[in-house]
Amino acid sequence: MTKIIVANPHGFCFGITRAINVAVKTSKNKDKPIFFLGEIVHNQHVVDWLESSLKIKTVQSINEIPDGSIVIIRAHGATPQVFQQAKDRGLEIVDASCPLVLRSHRTVKDLASQKKQIIFLCNKIDHDETVGVVGEAPDFATPVTLDNIFDFPINNPKDTTVMTQTTLSTIETQKALLFIKNKYPQITILPHICQATTDRQQAIVKLAKKYHFIIIVGSPTSANSNSLKSVAQSSGAKAYIVDNASELQPEWFLNQKDIVISSGASTPESILDKVIEKIKLITRQ
Ligand code: SF4
Repeated sequence: MTKIIVANPHGFCFGITRAINVAVKTSKNKDKPIFFLGEIVHNQHVVDWLESSLKIKTVQSINEIPDGSIVIIRAHGATPQVFQQAKDRGLEIVDASCPLVLRSHRTVKDLASQKKQIIFLCNKIDHDETVGVVGEAPDFATPVTLDNIFDFPINNPKDTTVMTQTTLSTIETQKALLFIKNKYPQITILPHICQATTDRQQAIVKLAKKYHFIIIVGSPTSANSNSLKSVAQSSGAKAYIVDNASELQPEWFLNQKDIVISSGASTPESILDKVIEKIKLITRQ
């Protein structure tokens, strides 16, 4: 009989819960039109639910927001230029940025004020968090992906600090940071992978080593969900990521006795439950 093991912790982190609560509270207390600037969290199910239940529309730029409205800044933060644009337009700004992302903003600002170069290690240079953090000091901060860091030339390591996106794979990041420290012993390293990301990945690493087959429920745009898949694979497991139950492929489950499931920090529990139900159907428990 197939056993399904749900990793713990999994699902919503503190920053995502907070951003959702900020949106709900804003919708209750204000009578102006409200807009999300970009996906408030990287999960379409959550975005659809908030848009329909709170009557908040998502737009991609400040220019799309009518005068006299409220703009909610997503959990991944935004550049100072975006805040300025909103202020210039006279929009009311509600900041739902995760405080741990804002900590990276402050660190970049602080290092740039000391004329230090910053390398922001990320999974994608156009990820919202990366754009927001690097936007604090574009003349000093350079986004470099985990794939590209091994060939990236660092000209002044003594005055360079390497920071990390909050949701990277802890395993791949450790490899990259070790490589950088060996190559440039004088460099400063300030890892900023958040606790929620670390805890979820540690749970998956443990289970991946024991059970070797993992399903991650999360959006393809969710960095932390993709990192869960990455640590599962780095720990020797076969791993798949699905946005919802319809993406499960029955052939994945042939001869699988133990199936581990986890979900990204922006995946609602209801979607995870539906995936579990479908897996039970596929494996006929
Ligand atoms: S994953 Fe970490 S940094 Fe990102 S929103 Fe959640 S708590 Fe904040």
